[in-house]
Amino acid sequence: MTGSGRCHYHPQRAGIGICVECRHVICTECTTQFEGINRCAQCLAKRLKAATTLKGRNDFSAANLMLAVLCAAVLWGVLELAVRAANR
Ligand SMILES: [Zn+2]
Ligand SMILES: [Zn+2]
Repeated sequence: MTGSGRCHYHPQRAGIGICVECRHVICTECTTQFEGINRCAQCLAKRLKAATTLKGRNDFSAANLMLAVLCAAVLWGVLELAVRAANR
C-alpha cells in the first residue's frame, strides 16, 4: 500500500492504508489486520464489541435453556409425587 494523504486520526502522520469499513485513511499505528482485512482501531473495537454482544446473547439463551430444563424436571417431580399420592 502506498501513502495516500494523511491519517484520519493523526493528521501529522502519513496514511498507509484505508479502513474497509469507514473508508478513512489510516496510519501504521491505526491499522489493525483482522481476518486479513485492514480496519482502523475504532472499527475493530466496534466489531469486537458486536462479537462480544453476540456471544453474550448465546450465553443468555443457553442459561434460559438450562432454566427451562430445570423447571421441567421440578414439574415432573411434583407430578410424580401427586400421582403417587393419588394411588395411595
Ligand atoms: Zn474504520
Ligand atoms: Zn493514525
